[in-house]
Amino acid sequence: MERIAVFPGSFDPVTLGHVSIVKRAIPLFDKIIIGIGMNSDKNHMFTLEQRIQWLANIFSEDDTVSVESYSGLTIRFCNQKKANYILRGLRTSADFEFERGIGQINRKLADGVETVFFLTEPEYSPISSSIVRDVIRHGGDVSGLIPKEVVY
Ligand code: ADP
Repeated sequence: MERIAVFPGSFDPVTLGHVSIVKRAIPLFDKIIIGIGMNSDKNHMFTLEQRIQWLANIFSEDDTVSVESYSGLTIRFCNQKKANYILRGLRTSADFEFERGIGQINRKLADGVETVFFLTEPEYSPISSSIVRDVIRHGGDVSGLIPKEVVY
C-alpha cells in the first residue's frame, strides 16, 4: 500500500518550521499532500491563492509533494485522497496538549489514519505563523523566519 500523508494547516504564511517538517517527511512517505484547510472562522492575512503559490514554488523540485486546499474535516480530506497518515509538528507542550485531543478524536473518526508527529528542530520551535504575521504587520524583518519564496 502506498504511504500517502496529508500535512494539514493554514500556512498563513508558510514558515521555515513548516518546510523543515515536510523535508524530513519526504524520505518516509510515497506522497505528501500539503492540505491548506479553509476555515471560515479564521481571518487570514494572505489569500488562499497566495499561500498555495508559495508552497508550490518551495516544493517545485520535490516530485512527491503536492499542494491542495480543502474544507471540512481533515479526516474526510484524507479519505478522499486515500491518505493513511496525517503529519503534524510539535513545538511545545502546549502543541502536544492541543494535538493530543485532535489526534485522538481523529482516530475515533477514522481508525485507518495515523497521526505522525515530528519534534521541531530546536532553531524553529519559536516560529509560528501568528508571530510572523505580527512582525510583518509592524514592519519587522522576517527573513530568518520564512522561506525566500514567500514574497508579499
Ligand atoms: P494550524 O492552523 O493547523 O495550526 P499551522 O499552519 O499553524 O496550522 O501549522 C500546521 C502544522 O505545522 C502544525 O502541526 C504545526 O504544529 C506545525 N508547525 C507550525 N509551526 C511550526 C514550526 N515552527 N516547526 C515545526 N512545526 C510547525
